[in-house]
Amino acid sequence: MKPALSTIIADIVAQMGEATDRGKVADYIPELAKVDPARFAIAIATADGDLLTGGDADTGFSIQSVSKVFALTLALGKVGDQLWDRVGREPSGNAFNSIVQLEREQGIPRNPFINAGAIVVSDVNLGGHQPRVAIGEMLRFMRYLSGDDSIAINEDVAASETATGFRNMALANYMRAFGNVRHPVDLVLGTYFHQCAIEMNCRQLALAGRYLMLDGRHPDGGRVVSPSRARRINALMLTCGHYDASGDFAFRVGIPGKSGVGGGILAIVPGRASIAVWSPGLNDSGNSCLGTQALELLARRTGWSVFSPPEEGD
Ligand code: GLN
Repeated sequence: MKPALSTIIADIVAQMGEATDRGKVADYIPELAKVDPARFAIAIATADGDLLTGGDADTGFSIQSVSKVFALTLALGKVGDQLWDRVGREPSGNAFNSIVQLEREQGIPRNPFINAGAIVVSDVNLGGHQPRVAIGEMLRFMRYLSGDDSIAINEDVAASETATGFRNMALANYMRAFGNVRHPVDLVLGTYFHQCAIEMNCRQLALAGRYLMLDGRHPDGGRVVSPSRARRINALMLTCGHYDASGDFAFRVGIPGKSGVGGGILAIVPGRASIAVWSPGLNDSGNSCLGTQALELLARRTGWSVFSPPEEGD
């Protein structure tokens, strides 16, 4: 008999508690460097409507690049497939904040999950408005998806990145030179930095990802995106969600996932589960060290790799 999901979660939390190599907390955004590396959390929202949690699942963290999934969803809602004229859909094979590829590829970022791509997505979401309008829309979206109105932006994190985000400024200015950023760079980055500074806990993040497990539906019955769009977002998470370690993540875990430098990862098992893990220590590619290990263990124990054949009775 398969062990209960709650047993698997308890085992993972225990194992992560004993880990000695926990990675290194991001310090290029000074505010993130203050987070305790000993933290670990997991939350799993299942297709049956259950929510199971372990560890520090009620502790908020900076979702950072996990926000790129939700910002992409909003941008596709605004401009549809025209987005793909301005952003590619290929893994980059480069670090999340790399600038080199942009020159060769005429200011068109490889995909919406590297920083350059997400900055173009923010430019789309800005849509001629002031950043506070686009940021308000994003916050409302996150609250609706997770059914939790307490979700907010950590203004200290946003300010910290605004003061130090020189690489992102370079990326945005560079793309503006190619006409692929259309609003003033400070407004686009204001939108982007605030979206990255949204603070959520694992419970809220797992709930927010449910539409991607449910083929585009909100559990309340509303449609967030079409089934084909949900599948495509999941495909992009699998191929591009972990930057130049996306191949390794697919190899080890086999589940679409999107990481952030705050140490969070959202992982989607279509038809089965929306999973959030968090541990602030990062590996060399800027992805949560224990978060990745926990998902690897979870996939192995549950058979949830998207490459597993369906079980009898499924
Ligand atoms: N806000 C971060 C940055 O732009 C997001 C990067 C990430 O989470 N990988 O550098």
